[in-house]
Amino acid sequence: MTPEEFRTIGHRVVDWVADYRTNIAERPVMAPSRPGGVRATLPESPPETAESFNDILGDFDRLIVPALTHWQHPSFFGYFPGNGSLASVIGDYLSTGLGVLGLSWQSSPALTELEDVTSDWVRQMVGLSPAWSGVIQDTASTSTLIALICARERATGYSLSRGGLQESQHPLIVYASAHAHSSVDKAALLAGFGRANVRHIPTDGNFAMNADALAEQIEADRAAGLVPCAIVATTGTTTTTALDPIATIASLARKNDIWLHVDAAMAGSAMILSDCRWMWDGIEEADSAVLNVHKWLGVAFDCSLYYVRDHQHLIRVMSTNPSYLQTPVDSQVRNLRDWGIPLGRRFRALKLWCLIREQGVAGLRARLRRDLVNAAWLAEQIRATVGWKILAPIPLQTLCVRHEPGGLTGTALDAYTLRWCEEINKSGRAYLTPATLEGRWMVRVSVGGERTERGDVERLWAVMQEAVAP
Ligand SMILES: *Cc1c(COP(=O)(O)O)cnc(C)c1O
Repeated sequence: MTPEEFRTIGHRVVDWVADYRTNIAERPVMAPSRPGGVRATLPESPPETAESFNDILGDFDRLIVPALTHWQHPSFFGYFPGNGSLASVIGDYLSTGLGVLGLSWQSSPALTELEDVTSDWVRQMVGLSPAWSGVIQDTASTSTLIALICARERATGYSLSRGGLQESQHPLIVYASAHAHSSVDKAALLAGFGRANVRHIPTDGNFAMNADALAEQIEADRAAGLVPCAIVATTGTTTTTALDPIATIASLARKNDIWLHVDAAMAGSAMILSDCRWMWDGIEEADSAVLNVHKWLGVAFDCSLYYVRDHQHLIRVMSTNPSYLQTPVDSQVRNLRDWGIPLGRRFRALKLWCLIREQGVAGLRARLRRDLVNAAWLAEQIRATVGWKILAPIPLQTLCVRHEPGGLTGTALDAYTLRWCEEINKSGRAYLTPATLEGRWMVRVSVGGERTERGDVERLWAVMQEAVAP
């Protein structure tokens, strides 16, 4: 494709995206697809001869888009919001259009330095002290994996440069609440700790980690000759947005020389509101933290900010220095390949930069505040309506709800809950995520789509009531 052809088709594509976002509410939120449905419409083998972009875009419209669940839809209330704000979409286009890679500072100086600047902007926005250094990773899953590898290496005096975990006589233990995200277990397994050495600490009545139970478990493990190595505390768990008591956990971590990683993947965005910052009180005592600006805040996926207090340690764990990557300025610059796992780095900072500048911090704060107010409004309606229940505290914008008609309990209630939720999702009118809480199915409503206004939340409430009407 020549630049001139790109100009013509690119303009069409920008128009297409603008139309898509304008008219998205007319589409069913959840894809009405069957497994294998898309595959069956596509050729099994690649085309031998070139095809026209007209045909490609035609197939995109006809075959691909109808088989998508529309995350930017104003009636998307599933999982957590994954806002791809249009300003950040443009940043992402530019990044891809440039096609530059950050292997070292020299390979794309502005890529490295804009990442320094924007990750520091976000640090200031969420109220972290200047003691923290930030870097962009792809996802929270990767950030947490890096944190656990760093914890492992601190606890073993850099065993990776010797026999690795295989030289250790004393198993290292990782602690997380029973409500921690599945990525924490995955990271612990991939970092070599082994499932037998991951402790799921019970939670309290608010689904937050029980710090007394954590203290007892640490003691018991020490007494058994094991080495407590890392605690992953969560600010805003996935099921209920519960808030682990960071300050208490941090003092346990410090006393026992344990790495503390805080998973604030979702709730971290809320820390741009100063009145939410109590939620991670004690964060300054942690060793690392992750927040996904690709969720509620609105940076187009993927953009996960990983913050560390001791970046020298991170670099020592992650660095490799082959001759072909060395440059004369290495001692004066950050080489971000030493701040994470991949060598190649996309220019993700551009989309973060575009979003922050186009919205201003005040604009971002106003949107998040709108969502908190809308979620509180919905909670109020639900609490005031017979038969409906709110099952967990709502510190942010996610509600855990159940409709409990008289007499229905146990597995019959589970089946009923799953049925009405699935009915709503299948109708295409709204999208919700069912999940289990204390062994029973319930429905999560996560408010926070960029285009989700009060009217959309009102419509959702009507749809929910209709779905359970006898
Ligand atoms: C979303 C989320 C994750 C996983 O995020 P990815 O970036 O998709 O890996 C982990 N922890 C929490 C608390 C989350 O909300």
